[in-house]
Amino acid sequence: MISLTKHTLLSLEKEINDLFEILFPLCRSITGEGVRKTLSILQGVTPFATHSLPSGTKCFDWNIPDEWHIRDGYIRDFRGKKIVDFRKNNLSVVSYSAPIKQVLSYHDLLPHLHTLPKIPHAIPYRTSYYKRDWGFCLTSHQKSLLSPNKKYDVLIDSTLFPGVLNYGEQLIKGSSNLEFLISTYCCHPSLGNDNLSGIVLWILLLKLLSSKPTRHSYHFIIIPETIGSIAYLCVNESSMKRVKGGFVITCVAGAGKLGYKETFLGNHPIDMVVKKTFENLGRDYIHYPFTPEGSDERQYSSPYFRIPVGTICKDKYYEYNEYHTSLDNLNFIKPDHLLTTLTVYLGAIGLLESLSERDFKLLNRAAISQFRVPKRGQATIFRSLNPWCEPNLGKRGLYPQIGGTLHQKATEAVADEKLLTAMRWILFFGDGQAPLTTIAEKNNISQNLLEKAANILSSKNLIEIVKH
Ligand code: ZN
Repeated sequence: MISLTKHTLLSLEKEINDLFEILFPLCRSITGEGVRKTLSILQGVTPFATHSLPSGTKCFDWNIPDEWHIRDGYIRDFRGKKIVDFRKNNLSVVSYSAPIKQVLSYHDLLPHLHTLPKIPHAIPYRTSYYKRDWGFCLTSHQKSLLSPNKKYDVLIDSTLFPGVLNYGEQLIKGSSNLEFLISTYCCHPSLGNDNLSGIVLWILLLKLLSSKPTRHSYHFIIIPETIGSIAYLCVNESSMKRVKGGFVITCVAGAGKLGYKETFLGNHPIDMVVKKTFENLGRDYIHYPFTPEGSDERQYSSPYFRIPVGTICKDKYYEYNEYHTSLDNLNFIKPDHLLTTLTVYLGAIGLLESLSERDFKLLNRAAISQFRVPKRGQATIFRSLNPWCEPNLGKRGLYPQIGGTLHQKATEAVADEKLLTAMRWILFFGDGQAPLTTIAEKNNISQNLLEKAANILSSKNLIEIVKH
């Protein structure tokens, strides 16, 4: 398989550094110029195809939103001094903010300001994709410069219009009948570990794997998180049902420890090759069992698709204080950290390549057979009425409308995160197999909380009782 010589490592380090510098400043979101520009720069590293889906396209329980363009945004005092300035940091405007040009009092402005009192010098990253709203993100210091008795010039020069959602993909065709998914997302603005590092590792992995014939096939996709993977699964339903497993690449270049978030099976061949690679390299890593939270594994692992995907990371999302803040920047990530994670990915794919189709199928079958939860006793069992990816909980009032806050260490919980987690577990086990008692036992969630979550999901017609 691919082994990296000292010379290759040096040239890759330079390439990573250059890509960090070029891509970091771009204002990406789930749609718009930032994503298109990012994909076009990446196509200069190695070729892949790009596609688009129009706003309004229905994808399972979701619709592709309008496209968002942003040109400028600021809060200016009466002397003309900009206290918050989008042009200085693109996190300063809530992603998907509607336009506004008005003179506002401090009190009218206040509900639209987002800060992180726990890290006063950091700007939080916030989004409002599905609720038409506007807002600014700022440091506590910037907020302290605003006076309750004054008025401010407020501008967000943005446009929301029927446009497209862009994504990229490339299939590396191997000689076996096994196909694996290598997925990353490209929707975060100027944020380093989450998610510029994942974008850069993804393109380098594509370039390296494309350079030699492979035994198995590898389907690379780069999409905006959540809506992009849901849309991709929707328009490629039959081909994605053939995928045997894969990886979601994110958070790969922090200074912290390496980590591995398992597939939902935990003992799938993907898990085996990753664990063996850590052992071969003599590297310690943090083991993260699967949960139906996190990134696009939420969609790939949903009851209808059940694609086992793992994530090898270095400073995993949710776990570091700088997560979803302006401190997750080019000082936080380093090219040599990314190379460390890339080496683990290459090792794991190398071991996957050494598996014959027959060996893979035997291991795969064994893992799947253990996943089936035994039915026992008189227990309530539910089935998801929306097993194709996760349902849109936001439009049912079950998910915070302002995104970016969930499981963020630097903020107070704005939603009942435990209840949301319980709802996600019930939906994840939504193939009518697992009683609530088993879900509670397996995942250390109280039966009471699960019952509360089940009642809410049932009242929204998202699950039905299979057995009582
Ligand atoms: Zn994120």
